[in-house]
Amino acid sequence: MVKGLRLGSEALILEKAASLLYSSPLCDRCLGRFFARLGYGWDNRLRGASIKALLVMSLHARIREGDERAREVFLEIAGNIGAKASGLYRELTGGDLEAKPCILCGGNIEEFIENVARKAVRLLKSYDVSRFVVGVRLNKEIRELEERLKMEHGIEYGESIKAELRREIGKRIQKLASVEVDFSSPEATILVDYPSGEVDVKPSSLFVRGTYWKKGRMISQAYWPSPTGPRYYSVEQASWPLLRIARAERVVLHAMGREDVDARMLGTGRPVVVELKQPMKRRINLEEAEKVVNRESGSLVEFRFEGFTDRKTVILYKEDASSTKVYKALILLGEPISVEEVLKALESLRGAVINQWTPQRVLHRRANVLRRKRLHDIRCTGVMPGLIECLIKADAGLYIKELVSGDNGRTNPSIAGVLGTGAQCIELDVVGVEPAAAPSTVHPGELTGRPG
Ligand SMILES: [Zn+2]
Repeated sequence: MVKGLRLGSEALILEKAASLLYSSPLCDRCLGRFFARLGYGWDNRLRGASIKALLVMSLHARIREGDERAREVFLEIAGNIGAKASGLYRELTGGDLEAKPCILCGGNIEEFIENVARKAVRLLKSYDVSRFVVGVRLNKEIRELEERLKMEHGIEYGESIKAELRREIGKRIQKLASVEVDFSSPEATILVDYPSGEVDVKPSSLFVRGTYWKKGRMISQAYWPSPTGPRYYSVEQASWPLLRIARAERVVLHAMGREDVDARMLGTGRPVVVELKQPMKRRINLEEAEKVVNRESGSLVEFRFEGFTDRKTVILYKEDASSTKVYKALILLGEPISVEEVLKALESLRGAVINQWTPQRVLHRRANVLRRKRLHDIRCTGVMPGLIECLIKADAGLYIKELVSGDNGRTNPSIAGVLGTGAQCIELDVVGVEPAAAPSTVHPGELTGRPG
């Protein structure tokens, strides 16, 4: 006896195992799974095989002691235990044991894992993937049966078939190919259907971080379809050569805000993340890609690709409310006011909070809400009487054309308002976009991005 040691839980494990096997045939792996969280560093197959061996030994001990009930139970469940019970069965009955197929997997789970892993490795060859994660779709009947068995037999330390399949298939694929499981930033999800054995590879989006400049006017940011083709040339369209380079299905631009179709984007350019959906190729040379994209856009749009990033940066760019922007506006006044007077009047706008109802020109597609944005700075030069050029630094999201015109009183204060005359923005460019926070950079091991 080991002094002070009290076991007893082994009896509980054996009783639960006996109760499970009394109700249904289970293969080693499917039995072991109900005790998956006991012991470390083994697979469920070893757990199930060990429990079966110990159960047969325990019953055998009782039978030797002349326990008739133990003999009855053994003969009853031997077929559900399978091979581990065949020796004692023959000893007791003189006959051969007929093992029954596992109620959960039909005895095919080992083969299933091997087959889908091999199928996945074959499929992965067409994708440029080194880190993956396995997803399992489980047939509803099996899931329900598993739950019912857990409930009926008071299973506390089990895991699900789904969890086991994900892990075991992942481990097997890792052994068969030079790829590795990565839950945090997988390059692809391998979708496995159980029990059909269908395997599908879904490559994760590739995120390219960069900046764009729009050097011409009448260019939209997103692709703008119309019955007769795109309404305008777009920044998105300019990025399309990337589809070919990465052999991707679709491109989505996630920019830090947007400018009007008729405004250019100059100066600092605008931060953007180009999302390439379902790329077949991930290790693209960004420097080369940048050259191709810029050459094909005919210099109307220019990109600079700075590196690879992840969805976190996309979220950051979507919540860009705290970043500031600098605009250059050419403003036509209702009457020829002298530059001195203009400068004096505009003084009061410096640092002012602008109350702005959704502009009339976008009311048909945006909700009517009141925005409050700060105008940080405004500097103007006179071009000729009645024509001024201003540099305006403001919170992102302030509508500049309406800041100029007042939008029939919907924007207050406004340039037209403080000057006491009509004012119209006849040319607008965005010249500076100041990010609120730095984007994240992903350094995938063997990616051949822009150095540095
Ligand atoms: Zn099974």
